[in-house]
Amino acid sequence: MSDQHLHQSFETRAIHAGNTADPLTGAVVPPIYQVSTYKQDGVGGLRGGYEYSRSANPTRTALEENLAALESGRRGLAFASGLAAEDCLLRTLLAPGDHVVIPNDAYGGTFRLFAKVVQRWGVDFSVADTSDLASVRGAVNDRTKVIWVETPSNPLLGITDIAAVADVARTAGAKLVVDNTFASPYLQQPLALGADVVVHSLTKYMGGHSDVVGGALVTADETLGEELAYHQNAMGAVAGPFDSWIVLRGIKTLAVRMDRHSENAGKVAEMLTQHPKVTQVLYPGLPEHPGHEIAAKQMRAFGGMISFRVTGGEEAAVEVCNRAKLFTLGESLGGVESLIEHPGRMTHASVAGSALEVPADLVRLSVGIENADDLLADLREALG
Ligand SMILES: *Cc1c(COP(=O)(O)O)cnc(C)c1O
Repeated sequence: MSDQHLHQSFETRAIHAGNTADPLTGAVVPPIYQVSTYKQDGVGGLRGGYEYSRSANPTRTALEENLAALESGRRGLAFASGLAAEDCLLRTLLAPGDHVVIPNDAYGGTFRLFAKVVQRWGVDFSVADTSDLASVRGAVNDRTKVIWVETPSNPLLGITDIAAVADVARTAGAKLVVDNTFASPYLQQPLALGADVVVHSLTKYMGGHSDVVGGALVTADETLGEELAYHQNAMGAVAGPFDSWIVLRGIKTLAVRMDRHSENAGKVAEMLTQHPKVTQVLYPGLPEHPGHEIAAKQMRAFGGMISFRVTGGEEAAVEVCNRAKLFTLGESLGGVESLIEHPGRMTHASVAGSALEVPADLVRLSVGIENADDLLADLREALG
């Protein structure tokens, strides 16, 4: 990011970083530069530094500068999806023979990328409970190049101490990657806690309206940022101009949305802890959550994601999902509208039988920003 934004508060950066007025018209938001190529003034005479839109596009540049500013990094890169960002990162950092430590609770698609794609290229991995430092240290070996952390994790809402794992990574000579999708940069700043790279699915809280798929990488290391940008262009899974624009638009309200998501989720979690048909509530905002103290230390608030387990096993969990009305039954998360799902049969079906398998009686909520009383009433009705 440009140093101009370093002193600004988060909310101000979210609205202004990268969003410079259009030099041609003064338009106060960046236009959608729906263009593939740029006229040169004589061979090699690039006017604004733009040559071809896979390499760079002005609308994407606006988003990339905004992303870097939000994560307090120096380089942001926008991709066609979260998994495209992860793929670019892994192919930049890893070579055959390398080893990676991955968490025992993670986005199903991230696990699938490691297990079914990256592993075929001669990179092996160990699974660790990243909320337990001894488990992380035990999984590291002399070939470890990357430690991957997701906090809060998906779908079990486990909390990892980012600063402590950053120490382990530094000692091991490995890079610490933090998937910050569940928290968003408003609630958590992994680079400031010692992470080397932050990964995002922009599809979730950053976009915030369930209307776009996108991904991002942010780093504070300019050399690594250059390498990632080189690979982004070489592999080509970039975010298009319209998708970049709609994510930029969503980000402007990120701070107010995250405050309301967190407030509503706190109320929902509290109600669920009292409900006779709920056996366990997984939400880092609850004092009894094992990661509560670390979450309170490294997060501004506890976010909008909650998982809970019900009496009656898998069938009962599926029934709750089917009966909810205001909570829409669907995959994904992070939009203004509340969603409910059964991870075992939906988002996490791809980890069945692995170390990442999730309990069958688990229900996951993405608590939206509707009126909290309406949300509580819908869940009470669905629980029966
Ligand atoms: C959705 C998600 C991803 C993958 O992002 P896509 O945009 O769907 O490719 C990665 N990590 C987490 C935590 C996610 O929720």
